[in-house]
Amino acid sequence: MYAVVQFMVKNSGILLFCFFIFCLAGVQAQSPNGHSFKVVPLGVKGGLDESNLSSYMIAPTGSDDFICADAGTVRHGIDVAVASKVFKGSADAVLKENIKGYLISHGHLDHVAGLIMNSPEDSKKNIYALPSVAAVLKDKYFTWQAWANFTNEGDLPHLDKYSYVYLKEKEKVALAGTQMQVLAFPLSHGPSYESTAFLISHESDCLLYLGDTGADQIEKSDRLQQLWTAIAPFIKDHQLKAIFIETSFFDKQPEKLLFGHLTPHLLMQELQKLAELSGLDNLKQVPIVITHMKAFGAAEQELVSELKKDNQQGFKLVYPVQGKILLF
Ligand SMILES: [Zn+2]
Ligand SMILES: [Zn+2]
Repeated sequence: MYAVVQFMVKNSGILLFCFFIFCLAGVQAQSPNGHSFKVVPLGVKGGLDESNLSSYMIAPTGSDDFICADAGTVRHGIDVAVASKVFKGSADAVLKENIKGYLISHGHLDHVAGLIMNSPEDSKKNIYALPSVAAVLKDKYFTWQAWANFTNEGDLPHLDKYSYVYLKEKEKVALAGTQMQVLAFPLSHGPSYESTAFLISHESDCLLYLGDTGADQIEKSDRLQQLWTAIAPFIKDHQLKAIFIETSFFDKQPEKLLFGHLTPHLLMQELQKLAELSGLDNLKQVPIVITHMKAFGAAEQELVSELKKDNQQGFKLVYPVQGKILLF
């Protein structure tokens, strides 16, 4: 015992230094307010209102270098955020300087229209997508027939403003100009149509954004099961800060009219499967952000009520609002 005390007295400087480093590491792992990511929704709905379609700016807290996950509505969402003082600069500066690139989950217009329409005003940046998704942009939109080809591939001439970066399964890719990385997982969005989930990471923390998806049972697929298996360890370790996932239709929507989308009941079924892998109590701490509702006005409130009713486990459901910052 005496020897231990003598050691501590002799080396108190070193011990103090170690303690200081330990504390510093603790501070660095999490920002002082405990948040790891900030998200500015530029559009949150799944149709009808063309000024509010899926698009989410995501950055680590403390950084203004964002990646934009999907780009259904871009400019109007930025205008709303600027008007509510989420950004200090002009809408033009946000588009050109703060958005460093786009992650595109799939090629449906409600996820890419904002990107296409704003391309003449935009700055040079990357479009990150699975090859099948990039092919839709390349072969259907940036063709000089649907729109001028602002990209670096496809129909000539190339205006070279956007560069495609092809994502591969199980390959982590750095998001240029940001402090984040992305890992892509293919999703099933109707028969043989591919959508994408993006696991966006910064240091040891991550956030999951899913593009449109059906439930495995309906899609006759195991894409969600594979995704849940891959992300469960991050939930167990409390590194996954939020899950963005769609709920497009009411429970009463007939199966054959789901078109690769989820209902409150199907969402809860899938979350239950994830909970079996991650532990229910762990998953209940993760905010589940409900995207892509195809319901408006009174119907939107009814869909929210249905989600509440079906949420028997008490998952933490969050409803994003256009231009209103979310911290995770
Ligand atoms: Zn959609
Ligand atoms: Zn879609």
